[in-house]
Amino acid sequence: MDLTDRQEKILEMVKLEGPLTGEAIAKKLSVARTTLRLDLAFLTKFGLLNAKTRVGYSYTGKKQPHILLDWLSSIQAGSIQSRVNTIKEDCPVREAIVRMVMDDAGTLFIVDEENYLEGVVSRKDLLRAAISNSLDLPIALYMTRMPNIITVTAKESVLSAARKIIDHQVDALPVVREVGEKKYEVIGRLSKTSIVKLFINAELEA
Ligand code: ADP
Repeated sequence: MDLTDRQEKILEMVKLEGPLTGEAIAKKLSVARTTLRLDLAFLTKFGLLNAKTRVGYSYTGKKQPHILLDWLSSIQAGSIQSRVNTIKEDCPVREAIVRMVMDDAGTLFIVDEENYLEGVVSRKDLLRAAISNSLDLPIALYMTRMPNIITVTAKESVLSAARKIIDHQVDALPVVREVGEKKYEVIGRLSKTSIVKLFINAELEA
């Protein structure tokens, strides 16, 4: 996590002299209290500082990488999932390409007649189909099938989802609910983009 010069200064100051109130920190830095509002909110949100009413800010002593990991494991995959539209395995490659463009998604999930997860197709799978002149063939010929699909549940942490994405070198995971033995209902999509958005939103909220 990159801190600004001012955030580093605040941290150092509170480490040495804390607990300090927002007013006291502002005075020492010769800036208005309101100027520090965002910095203090950011440092508190990420657990570097502890804020207590009437006492002020104190240093938590947490190491930055641990704070980031704690934060990612405290967020549930379901809270950052995006909406998902599924397709059936008899969908022609041509239509799947159109769907990918319309949905602005790099991965499509395929479900069977009962709406249970059956397969995944990525951009590369569709490119492979397209260069072999198979635009009218069903997507079933190009998808990765169960039981080889890496999934995540809504209750699992974002950290666990991110690890799966990296370990299995895929761009997205279906967020699933287990409805029977090895039967999964697809309830969302969690992609690398979902995780990047989480960081950007955290910065905006801080
Ligand atoms: P791209 O092909 O655009 O680089 P991916 O890296 O996600 O996208 O896909 C690589 C391969 O992994 C593809 O063959 C795809 O079918 C498969 N794949 C994609 N997502 C998953 C997943 N969640 N579980 C298992 N296989 C997947």
